[in-house]
Amino acid sequence: MNFRVLASPRNCMFRSLRPPSVRNRLIQMAHLSTAGISLAELPKSNVFTSKLPPDPAFDTPESSHKAPRETLGPRMVKGALFTYVRPEQTDEPELLGVSSKAMNDLGLKSGEEQTSQFKALVAGNEIWWNEEQGGIYPWAQCYGGWQFGSWAGQLGDGRAISLFECTNPQTNTRNELQLKGAGRTPYSRFADGKAVLRSSIREYVVSEALSALGIPTTRALSLTLVPNAKVLRERLEPGAIVARFAESWLRIGTFDLLRVRGDRELIRKLATYVAEDVFNGWESLPAVVSLRDQQSSTQTDNPQRGIPGDQVQEHEDVQENRFARLYREIARRNAKTVAAWQAYGFMNGVLNTDNTSIYGLSLDYGPFAFMDNFDPQYTPNHDDHMLRYAYRNQPSIIWWNLVRLGESLGELIGAGNRVDHESFINDGVTEEFEPELIKRAEKIIERVGEEFKAVFLNEYKRLMGQRLGLKTQAESDFQNLFSEMLDTLEALELDFNHFFRRLSGLTLSNLESEVGRREAASVFFHAEGFGGIGYTEATARDRIAKWLDSWRLRVLEDWGPANDGERQKAMKSVNPNFVPRGWILDEVIERVERKGDRDILDRTMQMSLNPFNDEWGLDKQEEERFCGDVPKYKRAMMCSCSS
Ligand code: AMP
Ligand code: MG
Repeated sequence: MNFRVLASPRNCMFRSLRPPSVRNRLIQMAHLSTAGISLAELPKSNVFTSKLPPDPAFDTPESSHKAPRETLGPRMVKGALFTYVRPEQTDEPELLGVSSKAMNDLGLKSGEEQTSQFKALVAGNEIWWNEEQGGIYPWAQCYGGWQFGSWAGQLGDGRAISLFECTNPQTNTRNELQLKGAGRTPYSRFADGKAVLRSSIREYVVSEALSALGIPTTRALSLTLVPNAKVLRERLEPGAIVARFAESWLRIGTFDLLRVRGDRELIRKLATYVAEDVFNGWESLPAVVSLRDQQSSTQTDNPQRGIPGDQVQEHEDVQENRFARLYREIARRNAKTVAAWQAYGFMNGVLNTDNTSIYGLSLDYGPFAFMDNFDPQYTPNHDDHMLRYAYRNQPSIIWWNLVRLGESLGELIGAGNRVDHESFINDGVTEEFEPELIKRAEKIIERVGEEFKAVFLNEYKRLMGQRLGLKTQAESDFQNLFSEMLDTLEALELDFNHFFRRLSGLTLSNLESEVGRREAASVFFHAEGFGGIGYTEATARDRIAKWLDSWRLRVLEDWGPANDGERQKAMKSVNPNFVPRGWILDEVIERVERKGDRDILDRTMQMSLNPFNDEWGLDKQEEERFCGDVPKYKRAMMCSCSS
């Protein structure tokens, strides 16, 4: 195999971007250019592989590179967090799409995606390393996971291979770029290391759509078709590679595996890595929140000061060491992300611990979906018979996953101020210390649970208030507006995301009279009307009209009567006109895969990246269809996990 090196090793050997000299230089560069740089110029690093232990079977890039590719297949890997492994070469790859937002966020200049370097890199045919000059050797991560509530053992990147980390010099954000569908690794278990076009299109579009909605997520840079990789699922399908990136690909499952194996030294090392090299250092993590701080805090989400609704209290008897603060940070991030899913009707579909991010990102796009008709029981996962990953269960499942993390970190957070004692580090927990340690860990997990709930609720209320056009929060909003709205949507089987967008466009003065409100009610109806049992058109209109009246009065309180245009604009800027629902993705897949249509993918990406537009100037008829009523028999679709 002949790998070409794309840049001199000096360019790619930023070991760490933390030293002040490098950081300063990057900040200076930010003022010089806003146009982006080339792939070769992009500062690259491998902090992950330089700080964490490699698979002992291939402990250097050279040893992995010399090994025949087939020897890098499935096996158990212990005492390590990754294996050096190169992508499998691909034959006649075709770049199908690139996200302009991703290019920009990575700091790449537009047009770079047309270069042969770029195309080869994202197709798995180039790496940033060669034997003479070195560089950065690709790797696959080792992790485990709890799947559907049962321990699944070692999992790991079975088909994802990370190429390098890169830092946008303008924002100083560092991302790990990886290829999904790049071939077998030691973590492939019984599978082929490949991804099919169908699921790759889904991931490519939805990760960028979530990002454009402001929801923390892993990202997609590009989609490459690998036409000759015939991948066997239920049938033979074309293969594909998504080049994707994230600030961190670490999962709760990464810690799970170490805990199950009793690797306390590596848990400590990994936790330290997360605090120091993934987050912005220990000092950036939340500190103890005291009651006094909370009382004096304003509408801020600074955990150092506490936020309204954060019911965290300082218990004098619990020492919160730095690992406890790390746990809090991870819990807080995930609380906010799951709140955003609930507020935007997004379901991940497989919230196993291996799909739950340490950084708080939406992670792993399998049988995900956006809600069509509001139904809290809905799960998009065809195999989820127990509804474990249904919409309504997402917050509690994320907490369930975080409790697993609490258990993995239990020894560290329970040790209190003894955590750095040499005897504790070297010899572990003594019998005499154990009860105290367990008691403290349990208390901290319980408290973080309270914090998770508070942060979740606070964020959920903030986003829902924003979606309903409110500027302030009132005690009664939850019951009178949020709950009653959701109950109405559920009872009448109306569309969740359309509801907010159509509400945004209503004119308040038209809702002053009962007649006006009953008239307006039908904007929320489907083409065929509404569903539900026991409603007539008159009673359906009555129920919506009643809610519209409460909403109108609350909006007037916040905006006054003279600013309705502004209110509409504000609401449209947070309520998407377009979300990539299952039926749209199915149509895109069908047209790309079976009909050779390439433009549909780009149009869908443009709509996903600008979801709040009224129109996009692409294909008017298609835009209207994609933003319009979901065809009756294509609502609430389900997907299987096979991808
Ligand atoms: P997922 O259901 O995508 O979260 O995957 C669960 C585990 O199965 C992860 O370790 C994946 O890397 C692995 N996996 C899924 N599909 C494949 C595949 N086609 N080849 C190799 N590993 C896979
Ligand atoms: Mg996964």
